[in-house]
Amino acid sequence: MILYQLRCDQNHEFEAWFKGSAGFETQSRKGEVECPFCGTAKVARAPMAPNLVGNASAPEPRRSEQSRALANQVVEAVQKLRRHVEESCDYVGEAFPEEARRIHSGEAETRGIYGETTADEARRLDEEGIEVFRLPGTPRRNG
Ligand SMILES: [Zn+2]
Repeated sequence: MILYQLRCDQNHEFEAWFKGSAGFETQSRKGEVECPFCGTAKVARAPMAPNLVGNASAPEPRRSEQSRALANQVVEAVQKLRRHVEESCDYVGEAFPEEARRIHSGEAETRGIYGETTADEARRLDEEGIEVFRLPGTPRRNG
């Protein structure tokens, strides 16, 4: 794969990956290479040495390493959040909306709970002034 620095006729610069220099030429001729800013297909290579990422031992561009690291951090944070919720909150399963209302109205002991609910139900709870947030990665059931 080759990373090309491209520039459209409005002087927008952007990067795109191609299978090779022939790949760019072919796609460009068919008008398949479009400027992400203005949508024009009048795109040419900007003068720049392409980054060659031909084999496994070649280092990848720094930016993708950074975004990978960021993605890992997000995953870690989500896992930590899940663990925290699972350790410190009561699992109430599908009784979640009722239990949340009971806590909200003072009928049940105030505590952190987690469980399953539908998006609609979560929205209703929110409208009733009950704070609900979706735990990323939690399987959600419909109905
Ligand atoms: Zn443009």
